[in-house]
Amino acid sequence: MIRETWTDFLHGYYICQSCEIVDRDKDRTLVGHTCTRCGTPSSGGYTFFDLTVGIIADLIAELYPLPNPDSLPSIGPFSDPPVSHRLAILIFFCTLGEMLLQHLLEPCVFRSGLSPKIQKSLLQDILHPLDHIEQLFPILTGATWQQAVIAASKRAKSDFRPTVVFYNKASKGRNQLLHLGNKMAVSPKLAKQCFTHMAPLIKLFVELYNIYIVKPL
Ligand SMILES: [Zn+2]
Repeated sequence: MIRETWTDFLHGYYICQSCEIVDRDKDRTLVGHTCTRCGTPSSGGYTFFDLTVGIIADLIAELYPLPNPDSLPSIGPFSDPPVSHRLAILIFFCTLGEMLLQHLLEPCVFRSGLSPKIQKSLLQDILHPLDHIEQLFPILTGATWQQAVIAASKRAKSDFRPTVVFYNKASKGRNQLLHLGNKMAVSPKLAKQCFTHMAPLIKLFVELYNIYIVKPL
């Protein structure tokens, strides 16, 4: 069987247009299907992620063989990616995380009721997530970043903390690469781990959305 692309995987997340819960209920594409959370009949399937998130994920897939995203792969018996691919994988992986974070936090900013000037400033901060997430996340959601990752892990019954630790490590490697020109900052192991942590990273942001952004019933 041909495995699904990352775009297919990402577009398998649907959002309820009424209560905004995000899940993988394919029947949301059927008009009249009732939402399992709020009971509102569906007016059609609305995918949660926009096209750009899928494009960046598929770019990584072009650089490295990927099994089915849903299988949460361990590092397989693949040969080491060449240096140029390792650099690209790391940059795309970090970009993917930044896009997911922006996708999560933008609705918080727009709904915050803060002045347009402060909203603009917060949105600019999201563009530098690693520097600001620990300050920004509590302002927008009322929870610390650490609390949020634990809550998302509990909801998904899957520990996302190793993925967050890895993301921070990858981002430091990316900065060394971009600002210091250190090509050796991207080891074969680091590049392969990017690939391993892609699906958990995406799932973490879906859970965070369902906990902190979705409308209460
Ligand atoms: Zn609903």
